[in-house]
Amino acid sequence: MTTIERQSTDILILGAGGAGLLAALHALRANPDLDVTIAVKGLMGKCGCTRMVQGGYNVALAEGDSIERHFMDTIAGGKWLPNQDLAWALVNGAVERIVELENRYGCFFDRNPDGTLHQKAFAGQSFDRTVHKGDLTGIEIINRLMEQVLAQPVRRLEEHRAVALIPSSDGTRIAGALLIDMRTGDFHFVQAKAVLLATGGGPTMYLYHTPSGEKSCDGMAMALRAGLALRDMEMVQFHPTGLLAGTDTRMTGTVLEEGLRGAGGYLLNGAGERFMFDYHPHGERATRDIVSRAIFSEMRAGRGGENGGVYISMAHLGPDNVARDFKGMVKRCADCGFDLAGGLVEVVPTAHYMMGGMIFEPGCRTALEGLYGAGEDTGGVHGANRLGGNGVANSTVFGGVAGATMAGDIAAGLDLVAPDEAAIIEARDAVLAPFGQPAGDLNALRERLARLMWDEVGITRDAEGLGRAFSGLDQLDGELRRTGIGDSDRAFNLTWQDWLNLESQIMVARTIAKAALARDNSRGAHYRSDFPEPGDLAQSFFTTVRRSGENDFDVATEPVAFTIVSPGESLIEGEAAAPPAGPGATQPTRPT
Ligand SMILES: Cc1cc2nc3c(=O)[nH]c(=O)nc-3n(C[C@H](O)[C@H](O)[C@H](O)COP(=O)(O)OP(=O)(O)OC[C@H]3O[C@@H](n4cnc5c(N)ncnc54)[C@H](O)[C@@H]3O)c2cc1C
Repeated sequence: MTTIERQSTDILILGAGGAGLLAALHALRANPDLDVTIAVKGLMGKCGCTRMVQGGYNVALAEGDSIERHFMDTIAGGKWLPNQDLAWALVNGAVERIVELENRYGCFFDRNPDGTLHQKAFAGQSFDRTVHKGDLTGIEIINRLMEQVLAQPVRRLEEHRAVALIPSSDGTRIAGALLIDMRTGDFHFVQAKAVLLATGGGPTMYLYHTPSGEKSCDGMAMALRAGLALRDMEMVQFHPTGLLAGTDTRMTGTVLEEGLRGAGGYLLNGAGERFMFDYHPHGERATRDIVSRAIFSEMRAGRGGENGGVYISMAHLGPDNVARDFKGMVKRCADCGFDLAGGLVEVVPTAHYMMGGMIFEPGCRTALEGLYGAGEDTGGVHGANRLGGNGVANSTVFGGVAGATMAGDIAAGLDLVAPDEAAIIEARDAVLAPFGQPAGDLNALRERLARLMWDEVGITRDAEGLGRAFSGLDQLDGELRRTGIGDSDRAFNLTWQDWLNLESQIMVARTIAKAALARDNSRGAHYRSDFPEPGDLAQSFFTTVRRSGENDFDVATEPVAFTIVSPGESLIEGEAAAPPAGPGATQPTRPT
């Protein structure tokens, strides 16, 4: 019999990235007497992807730019699939949040000689609007936010992993969450008036991926188990240039930034040929989805390099210039034994960001009373594509909104409720189940999952491959359930944590495959070789997936509501909206 310790709090925040930290600060600003608890799988200030942000933060500040422009870029980039009210909240909120980050929390971003904020160009933007701190913007943001949070009476549960959202005894709302203290293996039930899901998604079930290692889509898996729907799950963004440093190194998959291609870097296949112009007139400067698909096509056609990837070559720009302009990237490559400034570095598209996630509304409430969502756990803000720079804006804007909304709802009467005791026991027993099984090779399962997702649910998809994915995922799930931990000690048991990671990843992988099969067209990050056309923009739909049984999911489609602007229109006077993404924009043209 494993006991479960109990505690209660006003607000329980799951995750300590930009979304979680901003939520804590805003809740306390609304009401300093609130008891706020942050539970986080990693160490606060050291985990999650917000800390990893390189390029920067999109916000319409400069003269000539406008929130309408930022909004239109977000809608066009998202191929008309974003929820427009969420996108509007993002672009408006970013203006307020960037001022707050600097003036209230002390972030200091790069400036122009006249003292205004420096804003750089990022792909898919009609205006240079990306605020940054060199190429390490996330460290500045997280360090300053951490200083603020540490100065507040926030309760911190570090290395505490949330494993289940627990409903109230009458089943009408959420009562709290079940956590594992990863240091001891003990269970904690934290009863809360409001719970924020901000665990940051993270497509770590792909062979090559960028997000921080502890992320495994736990939040989305918990939301599914709680009966909530996820939207846009087919939309997984690949960054074209992940480092291919060989097997057995965690550096493989990490991003070599977009600016390298922007500055004029070449992509070469295994034969040393530049190939991007065979696919798109913009060559290496085409958007992320197009470059990723082109690289994937070269790889599939057997035109890859030594390790199967392609090469990025910068030397023609002058090694000294490259070393000066891309200090961080050159150092990262040198640490792995590669010469970015003067030689060739092998790269591969790498799973970077999930546009999909839990359905939420602009105030960050969800369909389950007492549960709120913010950041990369949520879906709908970006549609089919996230613009570089809109990710950290998303997490910090909506994190702050969620904090204020939770405080407001508590002031309006949201209170502690009795949990469903049977649900707590059931969740604990499910998490303990692998201890009862004979030990097995979890690493082999993880590698098979990663390969399956890359091959069949990756950059290019078709119905046949997705069919193979479903049976592969069923098989992996069955094998996982028969595979145990091989140890009865729960303290710092990383094998147990790996098992739980795989469970979340497989469940969420299924929703990606389901949604990918339901979308019979190609938009943004989702490319179906059997349905290469984008479809009629006016008839745009988004997908939703919810759990209907142990391993069953219902998938549905819903029309996009053009609440602010319709295809063919623009909010910018005198400008028509970006033309529909025709096949030339989404489809590799070189036969493979
Ligand atoms: C290499 C890299 C570079 C990027 N560069 C940019 C950029 O230049 N511009 C941009 O806009 N975006 C960028 N992004 C995306 C951006 O980082 C994310 O969109 C955003 O920061 C996510 O914030 P978040 O708060 O939702 O999640 P995160 O910051 O990832 O935080 C998630 C938190 O949840 C915790 N957690 C996870 N599971 C659990 C669990 N079960 N229980 C409790 N806690 C849990 C984690 O430990 C972590 O603290 C980049 C991402 C990467 C990986």
